[in-house]
Amino acid sequence: MKRLLIAQLALCCFALPAIAAAQATATAIAKNGPNADKIVLAIIGDGYASGDMATYRDDVDRLVMDDLFYEDPTLVANRSAFNIYRVDVESNDSGVSEWFYKLKPGGDSSNAADWELDPNQTQITNDTALGYVANGVWAKCWHEYVISSADTSARIQNVLNEAGLAPDKVIVVLNTSRLVGCAGGSRLVVNSGTHSGVVAHELGHMVPGLSDEYWVSGKTWSGGYHNHKNCSTVLNQSSVYWSDLLAPGVDLPTIYDATTMDPDDYVGMFEGCRYAEFGIYRPVHNCRMRGSGEFCPVCEREWSTSTAPYRDSYADYMAVANYPGALCKGAYAQLAYNTYAHVQNPWTVSRWAVCPAKRVHLNGLFSTYFFGFAWVKDRHPDQDVCCRVRTRNPGGAIRDGVESCSEASSAGYQMLRLDFPKVNDPYTWSHVEVLCKLPPVHNNIRSEILTYRVGQDRF
Ligand SMILES: [Zn+2]
Repeated sequence: MKRLLIAQLALCCFALPAIAAAQATATAIAKNGPNADKIVLAIIGDGYASGDMATYRDDVDRLVMDDLFYEDPTLVANRSAFNIYRVDVESNDSGVSEWFYKLKPGGDSSNAADWELDPNQTQITNDTALGYVANGVWAKCWHEYVISSADTSARIQNVLNEAGLAPDKVIVVLNTSRLVGCAGGSRLVVNSGTHSGVVAHELGHMVPGLSDEYWVSGKTWSGGYHNHKNCSTVLNQSSVYWSDLLAPGVDLPTIYDATTMDPDDYVGMFEGCRYAEFGIYRPVHNCRMRGSGEFCPVCEREWSTSTAPYRDSYADYMAVANYPGALCKGAYAQLAYNTYAHVQNPWTVSRWAVCPAKRVHLNGLFSTYFFGFAWVKDRHPDQDVCCRVRTRNPGGAIRDGVESCSEASSAGYQMLRLDFPKVNDPYTWSHVEVLCKLPPVHNNIRSEILTYRVGQDRF
């Protein structure tokens, strides 16, 4: 662990080692088509030493996948536009550098130049792969670089070259609990201790080019006419940028009323946007571009427009087929079938059902990526129906997709999404199946699989 005072850095001549030793590698964590047809995201960690790499993978899964592309409704709706790669690169030190600033006397906290290093604090400078510093100052984008911006950009490029990636956008995750969240150009920087909402917000800047919907207290908009995406100075029903999405009969400007307005869904013109509290308006009370809500309908539409060229392009070469649940076979024990061709578990213990699908040719070659859906009835009070996509090679090799489970017992059917990430299996002899665990019969009522779908891609 190398901890230097900034004062020492300035006085003398420390040379930090140029690049961490281990070769950077890239792992696809979401693939929805050829890179050329998709928005390619690369995630790179900084300040993760060799002993931190398991934590890094967990951080990426949580921040970008589990809580974001799996969970946020807007990102879920847009995710087929993305190919996402996790780049593993080790830093020599654990944790990014942390510098501590104070506001100059009489300074404006929103002005970066009014902040100076606090001589009463120990400034921590670590040797990390990309050289990022968490600085705790919003006006300084929450972060800066140990040496220079150009140097860090060169380091990022080196890492990407080593990993063999040419992404459209880069997400940098800094190993620090200090808050960092900033996007500029095609790069987004967050800290590992943050939540996925910050990543969603910053992606909102980077992909659809949305503005911040928050403001600096007391500031009046001075930028003149502005009527674009999610901020507008045009207080007019018919010419505001989102005129067609305004709530019927809405008053302009709109004063938020918590008893009648959904905070992130009721569209009007609420004062405060793009860092100004007065003179410019935002579509809803509290969109993800302002705070903790979900993306508002206006921002959602910008998302949809910006990703449209990248979504669904795989329709050309994707094969999808639905199958009746009765095709499923019991593993280890026979299952039952009803007159609707559903498969049911009649046993007093849970049972596995193997639901096969035809492996297809696409453009004359076998498919290599697999996903699915299952429509199930969960009739057990405290056990769920859980399914996944699986491929299996005669040689015994198995590739499992992520398991998805029913929410709660219900007489109605539930759809389980088994589509993200897709299972990749390049082997010609492998077959594909949906594998489900059915809970035991309960009060003589059986859980069942009504139907299932398997989709296949090749790329
Ligand atoms: Zn919004």
